[in-house]
Amino acid sequence: MTNTSTANLYQDTSLSVDERVADLIARMTLEEKAGQLTQYFYMGVAANLPEDFDIESIPVENRAFLEQPKMVDAAVAKGAAGAALFIKDAVATNRLQRLAVEESRLGIPLLFGYDVVHGLRTAFPVPIALAASWDMDIIAESQTVAAREARAVGIHWTFAPMIDIARDPRWGRIIEGSGEDPYLGAAVAAAQVRGFQGDLDDEHVLAGPKHFAGYGAARGGRDYDDAEISDSELWNVYFPPFRAAIEAGAANVMSAYMDLNGVPASANRWLLTDVLRDELGFDGFVVSDANGVRSLETQHFAKDLTDAGARAVRAGLDMEMTMFDPAYDRLPQAVADGLVTEEEIDQAVARVLRAKFRLGLFENPYVDESGTAAVLDAPEHRDLSRVAAERSFVLLKNENDALPLRAETLKSVAVIGQLADSKRDTLGPWVFDHDTEEAITIVDGLRSRLGDEVRVLHADGAGIPNRLMPSPFDGMDPTVLATADDHDDDAAIDEAVKIASAADVAVVVVGQRQNQIGEIASTATLDLPGRQLEQLQRVTATGTPVIVIVMSGRPLDLRWADENVPAILQAWYPGTRGGDAVARVLLGDVSPGGKLPFTWPRHVGQVPMIYSHYRTFQPGQQDTRYFDEPSTPLYPFGFGLSYGNFEYSDIRLDRHSIAVGDTVAVTVDVTNTSDSTADEVVQLYVHQHYGSASRPVRELKGFQRVTLAPGQTREVSFELGRSDLSYWSAATRALGQDATTFDVWIGGDSQASLSATFEVTAS
Ligand code: BGC
Repeated sequence: MTNTSTANLYQDTSLSVDERVADLIARMTLEEKAGQLTQYFYMGVAANLPEDFDIESIPVENRAFLEQPKMVDAAVAKGAAGAALFIKDAVATNRLQRLAVEESRLGIPLLFGYDVVHGLRTAFPVPIALAASWDMDIIAESQTVAAREARAVGIHWTFAPMIDIARDPRWGRIIEGSGEDPYLGAAVAAAQVRGFQGDLDDEHVLAGPKHFAGYGAARGGRDYDDAEISDSELWNVYFPPFRAAIEAGAANVMSAYMDLNGVPASANRWLLTDVLRDELGFDGFVVSDANGVRSLETQHFAKDLTDAGARAVRAGLDMEMTMFDPAYDRLPQAVADGLVTEEEIDQAVARVLRAKFRLGLFENPYVDESGTAAVLDAPEHRDLSRVAAERSFVLLKNENDALPLRAETLKSVAVIGQLADSKRDTLGPWVFDHDTEEAITIVDGLRSRLGDEVRVLHADGAGIPNRLMPSPFDGMDPTVLATADDHDDDAAIDEAVKIASAADVAVVVVGQRQNQIGEIASTATLDLPGRQLEQLQRVTATGTPVIVIVMSGRPLDLRWADENVPAILQAWYPGTRGGDAVARVLLGDVSPGGKLPFTWPRHVGQVPMIYSHYRTFQPGQQDTRYFDEPSTPLYPFGFGLSYGNFEYSDIRLDRHSIAVGDTVAVTVDVTNTSDSTADEVVQLYVHQHYGSASRPVRELKGFQRVTLAPGQTREVSFELGRSDLSYWSAATRALGQDATTFDVWIGGDSQASLSATFEVTAS
C-alpha cells in the first residue's frame, strides 16, 4: 500500500523504515507504546475448550488461565499488545491479527513468536544433536525448514537458537544448546541464525538467540538458579556465541531470567546495553523471558511492578513477555513518577516497530491459510530430518566391528526398551501436541528397513518414569511420577530377557524420557532412570550380542555399558524420521560421524567437567584431583567413532613465527585406512604457553567435517588469525593478543596428539 498523504506516512512504502517508525511513534499514546512493548502468551489450551466446559471442574486458582485468551483478545483490539506467542495455527494467527489490524486504533500488526526450537511440524534432532553433527550446512538447512513451516502458520519469530554454553549436564537445558565449547557454540549459533533468518523473506523468521547471558551456568545445574561468572569467563566462554549470532544478523535477543553476579539479567544495564549493544553491536530488540520482568520483584530487586518495568526498560529490555498483568502496563505511571522517560520508551518501541516493518507486516499482515498444509506436509522436510539425524549420531564404542549389523546374517532382532517404540520420546522436548503421530520410532525404522525376512521383536522392558508437566487442569506443580502403575517391572524385564536370549542380536535402547530433560528438568543424578541398568546387565548375560542405543540429551552414567557391551550409539532424540535414521546407521547404509559437543563424565560427582580446563601442576604431579574416581572423562569432548578409520599425519605450518595480528596456516593429511566410506570431523586445538593471563590447556579453534572414501587421503587446512589467538584477559581487562608460544594439535577429538608449535612475536 502506498499512501503519500502526510496523515499516513508510516504506511508509505517509499519511505525508509526509520522514517515510517518515527511517524508512527509520533501518533502513539503512551498507553499504546506500552502495549507495543508487551508480548502476551495465548493460552491455546483454554482457547480450544468445548462450549460446555465446566469451569468448576478445575482448581479455583487456575481458572484465570481459561479466561486468558479473552483478555488477550481485548488487549489486542485496543492496541495494548505488540506481540503474542504460542499460537501455531494459521486460522488462529489470522484471527488475532485481524483484531490488531482492523480493530485497534492504529492498526499496528502483531508479531507472532513461538519456540521453534528444532522444527515445527517436522521435528529435527534436538539442538544438542544438531551440534553433534559439527555440520553447519545441515544445521542451517534444518532451521530454514523450521522457519518455512513456522511462517506457513503465521509465526514471524522464533525464540531460538538457545546458545547458552552449558557445562553442567545436570542442567536440563543442555539439550537446547551446543554444549560446553564457545568456538563450536559460536559456529552453531551463527549457522542457526542464518538458517532461520535467511534474507528475512516470507519463508524466514526473526531469530532470537537466548538467554542473554549466563543462564547455562545456573548454580548446581538447577534450572533458574543464579549464576556467578567471572568477567573472564563471560567474555571468553559465554559471550562468544552471542557475538557470532549478532554478527550473523540476529534480529532479536532474549534476556535470561536469573541473577548474573547479583543483578537480574533482565534489568542489567551493563549486560543489555553496555555489552550487548555497545560492545557486541546488537541493533535489534530485546525480549524478556516469559514473565521475566514480573519476576524482578520476586528476585528481591524491584520494589513493585512499576519499578520493575521502569528498570527493565532503562536497562535495555524492549519487550516484556508475559501471561497476565504486564509490568509494562505500568509504564505510563512510571513516566509520571519520573522512573523512566518517554524517550527511553520510544527507543524501545522503535526497535520493535523496525522488526515489523522489516518483515513487511504492515503490507502483508496475514498468512495464506490455503498454502499451509502443503508446506507442513512437504516430504522433503521429513527427508532432511532423517539426514540430519544420521549426521548427529555419535558412535561411542564399537569393539570388533560389532556395528554395522549385516542384514543377511540376521533372522531375528530383539529391540528392548520403552524408548525404542515411543513416538513422543523420539521427537524430544519442544514439540507440541498433534505433531507426534508421524514419528518413526526405532522399532518402526528397523521393521521397515529389515522387511519380512528378519523378525523384529520388541519388549518394553523396564519402565522408565515419566514426568507430569504442569497443567491448569491438574494443578500446576511439576511432579515426578513413578513408572505407570500398571507396569509390572519384574514381568516386563523377564520378557525382555526372554526375547533377547532367542534373538541374533539385542538392540537395547536406554536413556531418559524427553520430559526428563529440557526446561525445569534438571537432575541430581546421571543414572539411567528406573531399572534400565539391571535390565541391560541381564540382557547382556544371555550371551546374545548387545548394541546399546542411548536416547538422551545429556551424558548419562554409562560406565557399565562401556566396560561390558561391544557397541554404544548416542542417538539423542532424533526427530520425526529418527527411527529410519537409526536403522540405516545400524545396518551400515550410512556411517555415523558425529562427535560429542560436551565432555562425557564418568560420574555425576565429576561435573562440571570440561576439556578446556586450566592447569596448576604438570600431569603426573599432584594431578589426582579425586582419589575415588579418575579425573578423566568417560569420553572426551569432540570424540566419536565411525565405520571408517582415520590416520592423521604430517602436520605442517606455513611459518613458525608470526607477528601479533598475522595469520598462520596449519595443514594435515587425513587418511581413511578402512574399507568404508565415512566422515571424520577434523578438529584443531591450540594452547598458549604464557601471557598476561593463564590460558586453558586446550581450546578448539577449527573443525571441518569431511567425507573420505576407502584409502583416500585428504589434505585439510586451517587458518589461525587474530580472533583465534586473542582472548579477554582478566589482567588487562581487555580483548587482546599476547606475544607468546602456541602449541597446535589436529586430530579426531580433544585428546588429539599430533602437534606443532609456533611463535607469536610483538608486531
Ligand atoms: C523459556 C524460554 C522460552 C519461553 C517461551 C521460557 O520459560 O525459558 O526459553 O522461549 O519460556 O516459551
